[in-house]
Amino acid sequence: MNISIVGSGYVGLVTGACFAELGNKVICVDNDVNKVALLKKGAIPIYEPGLKELVAINLKKKRLKFISSIKEAARSSEIIFIAVGTPSLANGETDLTGIENVARNIALNMTKYRLIVEKSTVPVETGAWVKRTIQTYIRGKVKFDVASNPEFLREGQAINDFMHPDRVVIGVESKKAGELLVNLYKPLNAPLVVTDIKSAELIKHACNSFLATKISFINAVARLCDKVGADIEEVAFGMGLDKRIGQGFLNAGIGYGGSCFPKDLDAFIEISQKLGYSFQLLKAVKEINQQQKALFLNKIKDALWIIKDKTIGVLGLSFKPNTDDIRNAPSIDIIRALQEEGARVKVYDPSAIEKAREALDRVKFCKDAYEVCRGSECLLVITEWDEFKELDFLKVKKLLRRPLIIDGRNIYEPKILEKMGFTYISMGRKKYG
Ligand code: NAD
Repeated sequence: MNISIVGSGYVGLVTGACFAELGNKVICVDNDVNKVALLKKGAIPIYEPGLKELVAINLKKKRLKFISSIKEAARSSEIIFIAVGTPSLANGETDLTGIENVARNIALNMTKYRLIVEKSTVPVETGAWVKRTIQTYIRGKVKFDVASNPEFLREGQAINDFMHPDRVVIGVESKKAGELLVNLYKPLNAPLVVTDIKSAELIKHACNSFLATKISFINAVARLCDKVGADIEEVAFGMGLDKRIGQGFLNAGIGYGGSCFPKDLDAFIEISQKLGYSFQLLKAVKEINQQQKALFLNKIKDALWIIKDKTIGVLGLSFKPNTDDIRNAPSIDIIRALQEEGARVKVYDPSAIEKAREALDRVKFCKDAYEVCRGSECLLVITEWDEFKELDFLKVKKLLRRPLIIDGRNIYEPKILEKMGFTYISMGRKKYG
């Protein structure tokens, strides 16, 4: 099929490369001309395992093309996905400027039937606005459909998630739109949920909000564990074996971050409010998540007493492992808070240092975890990268000023570290020493 994807970020680029890999002819459009210039050369502006290779292969096979104007996409592709960013406004509502802009430009340039698909995460009823926008700006009597096809991929494993999804959600209001999308996704052999547009839009917000709820729930239980000396890892394991609950998203820690959960939760709370329903549950989920960072900072203060002029080593910047994405990463807030108290901060991350240079001042970026440890008063774990799980702790102990590890992601075994002479502080776990 001839398809276009507007927006070549984490979602658009992965979607474009994967659809090309499945044999479609794909045009990826982005209004960032520098990004398009890079992509044309096969350079990838983000870190996503396997993406560079997939883009290179499909560029070579001429199934993938990068351009900066929507015109060609609207003229030549029957299906046009919108995958631009949908950030939060200051009041928590979704900024839909990008979606409107793209819808208008498609309308102005399309000359034949087109299926315009929302891939970006948007509040319920955005599809109806996209339809109205296209109707307003369309030239002549061109037929079109709007559909919702929310994306569920996770950064760091995006290609695998796209190629092997748990399900594909397709929200349509015509048979033709449904058939086009069902055919496009057929090669994935995935369960399909074909529904109406509003339900599809709601599925995405409800999913992210539910997952955030699981995280805040386990974090709240972890606080009780801290209070009574129980172990959250064992509590979560015991809970997760119940098939109705499942093990996923029951990792206690400093809470969720990233470009999706915080903004999607805000957006869901706001759209609910607008529709006349005050979503108290999600307000509490958000509050608990905020408190986790403060709790972590308190653990650092309790251990170090005075923060001023102390050197603190930090492992991890990205909001989760296997990505360079630092949008809404807890690391940034925590590092800034420590700096405000007068700490000197050394930090290492396997892939997010370049992005973090723009967000952080006065930080010493290190080449590895051991350089972070050298001369630091304590070691903080903020992102659970695999390479942090396999450190040489004898070396870590020698390099640190005092053997103190404060782990915001519960990645180490308390028993082992305590036996080695570390003071090991984590989130809601039993102490052995
Ligand atoms: P992103 O910021 O990485 O990418 C968005 C891209 O759109 C950028 O390259 C930007 O230059 C481009 N763009 C913006 N306005 C444009 C316009 N008018 N015309 C052409 N290009 C334009 O964002 P992302 O992380 O890929 O997210 C995109 C959407 O997908 C969001 O709604 C997000 O909530 C949703 N989503 C993201 C993820 C994820 O893990 N990142 C997962 C599922 C859904």
